[in-house]
This record gives sequence, C-alpha cells and structure tokens, in this order.
Amino acid sequence: MSSTATEVLVVGGGQAGIAMSEHLGEYGVPHIVLERDRVAERWRTSRWDSLVANGPAWHDRFPNLEFPCDPDAFPTKEEVAAYLARYAEKIDAPIRTGVEVTSVTKNVGEPGFRVGTSEGTIHARYVVAATGPFQKPVIPAVIPEAAPVRQIHSSTYANPRQLPDGAVLVIGAGSSGVQIADELRRSGREVHLAVGPHDRPPRRYRGRDFVWWLGVLNKWEAATPPQGAEHVTIAVSGARGGHTVDFRDLAADGITLVGTAESYADGKVRFADDLGQNIAQGDANHLSLLREADAYVARNGLDLPEEPEAHRLRPDPACVTDPVRELDLAEAGVTSVVWATGFTQDYGWLKVDAFDENGRPRHRRGISSEPGVFFLGLPWQSRRGSSFLWGVWHDARFLADHIMIRRSYRAYGSPDAPATA
Ligand SMILES: Cc1cc2nc3c(=O)[nH]c(=O)nc-3n(C[C@H](O)[C@H](O)[C@H](O)COP(=O)(O)OP(=O)(O)OC[C@H]3O[C@@H](n4cnc5c(N)ncnc54)[C@H](O)[C@@H]3O)c2cc1C
Repeated sequence: MSSTATEVLVVGGGQAGIAMSEHLGEYGVPHIVLERDRVAERWRTSRWDSLVANGPAWHDRFPNLEFPCDPDAFPTKEEVAAYLARYAEKIDAPIRTGVEVTSVTKNVGEPGFRVGTSEGTIHARYVVAATGPFQKPVIPAVIPEAAPVRQIHSSTYANPRQLPDGAVLVIGAGSSGVQIADELRRSGREVHLAVGPHDRPPRRYRGRDFVWWLGVLNKWEAATPPQGAEHVTIAVSGARGGHTVDFRDLAADGITLVGTAESYADGKVRFADDLGQNIAQGDANHLSLLREADAYVARNGLDLPEEPEAHRLRPDPACVTDPVRELDLAEAGVTSVVWATGFTQDYGWLKVDAFDENGRPRHRRGISSEPGVFFLGLPWQSRRGSSFLWGVWHDARFLADHIMIRRSYRAYGSPDAPATA
C-alpha cells in the first residue's frame, strides 16, 4: 500500500473523468484519474449487446475527436467504449485503472482530502466525483423478490436468449424500455410494455435528426428539469439505423401496451389507469416539437423539405383505448420482468458535507457545498445535456475553470502554491 499526493483526484474513468482530465491537463494542473475497472466500463458491461448510441456519431462525441465512421451512423456500444479509450490515450490522461476509491475524508486543520483506495492512500487538494449519472439500478418495490417470475434490471439485460422461455413484461418506456421490448418482440416473445410519462421526439424531421433540432431550438441547454422530473425520459432509438418511437408501431408489431405498474398481489400485476394519458402527453410533446421546428425553419428561411404527414398521428390501438389493468403473470405465460426504470447514485464512499437530507448531491453546476469537492456528469448538472457525451465536456471545462480560480487565490502571498490562474 502506497501513499501519494496530487492536486486533483478524479474518481471515475468514463466520459466525465476523461473530459475532466482533458481540461485539467490543458491547464497543467497535476491530477490523477482513478477507475475501478476499465476506461468506459459501463459501455462495455452495463449495456445490452445490441445497444447503439442514441445520437448519431457527428453529435454524440467530444469536440476534439470524431468517430471513425459515417457521421450519421449510430455507433455501437463497443465503438463508444473504443472512442473513449482512444480519447484517453490521445490526451494522455493519467488514468489508473483497476483502482477503486473506497473513502474520501476531509483533512482536519489543513485543506484537502485523504482518499482511501484499493491500492493505498492519496492526498488531494480537490476531489471530482465523476462516477456517473446512472450508478445504481432502481427497481420500484412492486413485485416481491419471491414472486415466481425472473426479475432483472435493464442494466443487466444482455439479449433475449438470456431470459427463460415465455412472455416478458418490460416496465418503463424510456429509450431502454422501448428498445428492449422491441428486441424481445422481434425475437418472437410475447411482450407487455408498461408505459409511463415520456417525451418522444421524432427521430428525423424535415431531413434533420432530433439531436439537431434540440440543439438549434436550445433545448439541450435548458437549465431546469421539467417539473417533478430530474431526468426526463426521452423515448428515442438508434436501433436498426434509427427510427421514431411511436407506441402505435410497437402495438402494431404485437406488443401489448399497459399503464404504469402499480401493485402486485396473488400473481397479478395491476397497472394504473394512465396509459391513454401517457401516450397522449408523449404525442403532444412530439407534435409540439414539430411545430417548433416548423417555426424555426420559417424564421430562418431554411430550405428543408416539408413533412406534413409527420403531424398526422394514427388512431390509438385497442390496447390503449381499452387497456389491460390487471395481468395474471402465470396465465399470460410471463416468466420474466425487465425493469427499465432508471438509476440512482451511490456516493457512500464520499464522506463529506456535500449531500442534502435525501442523500442527493448538494451543488451548483457541480460545485458542491463541501469546498474542494465537485460533481461531474450528474443529470441536469447545469443543463439537459449534462449527462450526455457532448454535454459533460462543457461542464468539465466549467469545473476546471473554477479550480483555476481557486488556485489563483491560493497563489496570492504563498511561495509554494501555483503561481498562475
Ligand atoms: C442505456 C444507456 C444508453 C445511453 N446512451 C447514450 C448515448 O447514446 N449518448 C450519450 O451521450 N449518452 C448516453 N447515455 C448517457 C451517458 O452518456 C452514460 O450514462 C455515460 O456512461 C455516463 O458517463 P460518465 O462518465 O458520467 O459515467 P460512467 O460511464 O458511469 O463512468 C463512471 C465510472 O466510474 C467508475 N467508478 C464508480 N465508482 C468508483 C469508485 N468508487 N472508484 C473508482 N471508480 C469508480 C465506474 O466503474 C465507471 O467506469 C446512455 C446511458 C444509458 C444508461
């Protein structure tokens, strides 16, 4: 076990840790990035086999490196992991892999932190927690563990072959839930999909991908989450070359849509009476984006082909107008449940005063309430794009700038401290 010292200790070697390292490196700030597994581990092992990026290669990337593929293609998860590993090499990021941070405690009587790791102690002036927006799978307590059905979270779903024979209930209709349900249906399974509130932008409209529309309409920059939601679920898919998620298509393919899973008793799952409303709100979100896009085209005099048919939605399918409210799992042959219900964070190792009464990071744009501790990559850290590949890079720059400002004050009057800001 060794003991070393550095100025900034970055915890996590995903896109956030790499982006942080790039900016610190450019400023010449001594730092170390610790990653308990491999660089971009979550893209390697916490995503299903067929996953591709939700955004095209030209968009879902850092500014200083392009993907080595068609810019309009959707990179596979392996390509995203390889991209991040290549990026870390390109910037010569000081990443130590296979080292887990087990504790961070504040020094007493002197600034800085003592960082306990699986390979000894590191003393750091600043700590950046870049351990991901989506760390700990959330499975709502609806179906007891002892129920006679296999239950997994989307983060451990790999492919249809992994599940026992039989029908599947997928719960959650964000990008993960709809893609997993679609894949299971295409593999020949009977599928029920529990649909909660969601946004569903068009994959492409008037010749442009939705990531472009959200960009030009300034929606990735939105600073406030929609009321009641920290992370709004966007149902989009880059699968099979990318397509708009329309729940009518999923129903037409044989998926039975149901409302939010509410309770379980005697082998039966009950669903809320909210399916029609959730579909209608998703449709409203879809149509309002089309209208905003049209207004943008008109305002800017752009020559983009009109697409009036995109505004015409087909009637709701029978499973929406007359929804199943109760599903007897055995009777329906349901042998597994896939919970695509999101994630929470786990900062048990960060033993400082940077959390609110609910254990959530207390911060402003990543600057925590504990001086010297920063968060990076949180959902809505500064804007809607914060937890995404292209967004985190800008939040990292903001934190690096902030660290440089702190250093410049420290430098004043001190012969040892860094001399420049
Ligand atoms: C299914 C899915 C699809 C997504 N698709 C896209 C997409 O197409 N485009 C996009 O821009 N975003 C996408 N995202 C969102 C986001 O880009 C990813 O979640 C991304 O992995 C977040 O990167 P990160 O660096 O913030 O965190 P992570 O990738 O989670 O990296 C954090 C790292 O910290 C390490 N770590 C954790 N605790 C410790 C510790 N105590 N000590 C040392 N190391 C530790 C972990 O091993 C991990 O490697 C997707 C997310 C999900 C869940």
